[in-house]
Amino acid sequence: METRHQIIIVGGGAAGLELATALGKRLGRRGLADVTLVDASRTHIWKPLLHEIAAGTLDSAEDELEYLAQARWSHFRYRLGRMAALDRERREVCLAAVVNEEGGEVIPERRFHYDTLVMAVGSLSNDFGIKGVQEHCLFLDTTPQAERFQRKLLDSMLRAHTLGRPIEAGQLDVAIVGAGATGVELAAQLHHVTRLLSAYGLDTIDPARHIKLHIIEAGPRILPALPLRLAAAAERELRALGVTVHVNQRVVEVNAQGIVTEGGGMIPAALKVWAAGIKAPDFMKDIAGLESNRINQLVVTGTLQTTRDENIFAIGDCAACPMDEQGNTVPPRAQAAHQQAALLAKTIARRLKGRAPLVYTYRDYGSLVAMGRYSTVGSLMGGLAGSMMVSGFIARFVYLSLYKMHQAALYGWPRAILISLLHILRRGIDPQVKLH
Ligand SMILES: Cc1cc2nc3c(=O)[nH]c(=O)nc-3n(C[C@H](O)[C@H](O)[C@H](O)COP(=O)(O)OP(=O)(O)OC[C@H]3O[C@@H](n4cnc5c(N)ncnc54)[C@H](O)[C@@H]3O)c2cc1C
Repeated sequence: METRHQIIIVGGGAAGLELATALGKRLGRRGLADVTLVDASRTHIWKPLLHEIAAGTLDSAEDELEYLAQARWSHFRYRLGRMAALDRERREVCLAAVVNEEGGEVIPERRFHYDTLVMAVGSLSNDFGIKGVQEHCLFLDTTPQAERFQRKLLDSMLRAHTLGRPIEAGQLDVAIVGAGATGVELAAQLHHVTRLLSAYGLDTIDPARHIKLHIIEAGPRILPALPLRLAAAAERELRALGVTVHVNQRVVEVNAQGIVTEGGGMIPAALKVWAAGIKAPDFMKDIAGLESNRINQLVVTGTLQTTRDENIFAIGDCAACPMDEQGNTVPPRAQAAHQQAALLAKTIARRLKGRAPLVYTYRDYGSLVAMGRYSTVGSLMGGLAGSMMVSGFIARFVYLSLYKMHQAALYGWPRAILISLLHILRRGIDPQVKLH
């Protein structure tokens, strides 16, 4: 029987891994509590990098972190497994069996006891039940999905180049549904990499002529989280790159040929990417009697505790955390995940000493959108100065600093800086795009 306070964190993403690292160093190292991180994956990649992996401008092997190594360095335990259920009466988290690629069982079903539980399982793309999305679209929710997109793009270009037949209309076209930051950034990246691939030998393909890129958005404009002026600047940039932007186009179906919009419009595309809206994983819906909202997020109070169980917390994309008096919740963003992890590390340490939890306030430091290698635009919200818009070098610097903060939370600043230097050196000697 375990005697030390058992802290279980489910989900080792932007929020959960930072929390496990902070608690391991603060409590685990000194034997004040046992900290266990459960994740369905064996390695961690910071999710905002997934569109770069999909485009092939980043190799996942370069940036992935091994959970087992991080656990050893930071004094927490890591357990591989996918959470499937919760038993609140016995205070146990239930994990499904882990199976390998051939379907053989690697680890049987297990249960872990908790005194404090933190749910940090993130979010997935929301297909809103639209016909054909699951069958015909690619998603960018996980590293394997991003890698799958990269292979499909490369394969289709290799095939078109090698077969020597004239390239048919639409054969290499890509349609991205959703004009939030993910869709816009992916489109700009794809413009860049298709030209790189052509330059690296697939030279019978002229991207300007043979590859059409589409972004399809149900709302009246792209990048709804950005001020209108910047969204307009980003849209001008996309159009200058030759990306076709379709606004006010509600998708009603996806099929093998392309995207069908309300009113019967059809946008033909060989590769279709779904990046429109998020929801928390389905198993979270009303899990063990906890309160969840219409997109499966667990409803939490300002202290990040779930409304019906003070020993269960939720952070990051899977939490519906109040933001203001109008009933808005904190947006699903990496900066919120980072802030909540830092605050919850303090709250959990305080609770072990019998002190009250801290209240979380979301600080919006702005939204930045990287247009591939071309430019970065966005707005920075200074608490004092109001809203400030940035572009160019400053925007690029701030955009990268969010990732550096994540790395610093995991490794400390000296190692984070060393990793960045190694990265720059590798960029100097490796091809600019993944070629396999
Ligand atoms: C392509 C892309 C670009 C983005 N760009 C930006 C950006 O520029 N700026 C920004 O602020 N935000 C951005 N975001 C959003 C940002 O990535 C998320 O808000 C952030 O990652 C949320 O952190 P999280 O810890 O809640 O979830 P995640 O980082 O998604 O981590 C969830 C973890 O839970 C694990 N997990 C899931 N289900 C289970 C289960 N049942 N059992 C065990 N483990 C499980 C997963 O394996 C994963 O490790 C982007 C997102 C995407 C997809």
